Amino acid sequence: MDGWTVRHDRAATVAYYQTVAQGDADVCGCPLCRNFALQRSAAFPAEFLGLLERLGIDANKEQEAFDWGPVGDGLRQYGGWFCFVGDFAKSYAEPAGPHFTSPFSFGFTDSFPRHGGVPRKDVVAVEFITQLPWLLPDESLDAALR
Ligand SMILES: [Zn+2]
Repeated sequence: MDGWTVRHDRAATVAYYQTVAQGDADVCGCPLCRNFALQRSAAFPAEFLGLLERLGIDANKEQEAFDWGPVGDGLRQYGGWFCFVGDFAKSYAEPAGPHFTSPFSFGFTDSFPRHGGVPRKDVVAVEFITQLPWLLPDESLDAALR
C-alpha cells in the first residue's frame, strides 16, 4: 500500500472478530444501514477485500457504517471503519483521511468509534468510503429519511 507501513497481529484480529456477532449496520437496522448491509458484497473492490483478509478482518462485521448522503446518479455515499489489532505509520505527508472524489477509497486511522467490545489497546482501523445505489425493495429513500 503506497505510503503506508502497517504492522498487525492477524491472529489477534481473527480472535476479536470471532467475538463480534454481526456488523454495526445489522445491529442498527435503520433503512440507511440495511441498504448498506444488503450490498456489502458489492461495496468493496476485490483488492480491498484482499486487504481485509490479510489483516484478519471479517468484511461482514464493520465497526460502524454511516450514510454521507446523495452523490448523484442515484448513488449514496457510505463511509465506515473496520478495526484491527495493529498499528500504522504513513511514510509521506498527505491530507488526512480518504479522498472523497473517487467512488471508493480507504486509509488507516486511529480515530474511530470505539463502541462495543473493541479491545482498548493496540487497535486501529481501516477507514473506507464507497458509493452504493438505493436497493431496499419495499421502502423509498424519502420514507427512510423522514
Ligand atoms: Zn443505521
